[in-house]
Amino acid sequence: MFGIPESVLIFAALTIVVGLVLLAGVGLLPKATRTVARVFWCPFRRTDVTVEFEEDSFGRGRYLGVKRCTAFAPTSAVTCGKPCLYLGNLPPVRGLPKAA
Ligand code: SF4
Repeated sequence: MFGIPESVLIFAALTIVVGLVLLAGVGLLPKATRTVARVFWCPFRRTDVTVEFEEDSFGRGRYLGVKRCTAFAPTSAVTCGKPCLYLGNLPPVRGLPKAA
């Protein structure tokens, strides 16, 4: 094809694939994320919250970050350590009034 030996094309293709795998392995490729909103009871603030999570589009629901949380005002000023990122299952809302 195009006068280029097949072995060179195969080597170039394998080099590109290996390079992409290495870049992905060290986190240099851009991450595909989406924003999802979840309503649950935060066991750390002990209140119901609505949180906008950054979710890994390819991670089957793995949360990468918190964009907004209604436990804070403004909601984008999240100052906790975001431990909710590591909750396995988000606790259901309890309907308790928010502490002043
Ligand atoms: S961001 Fe902080 S306050 Fe909000 S749900 Fe997560 S742990 Fe709770």
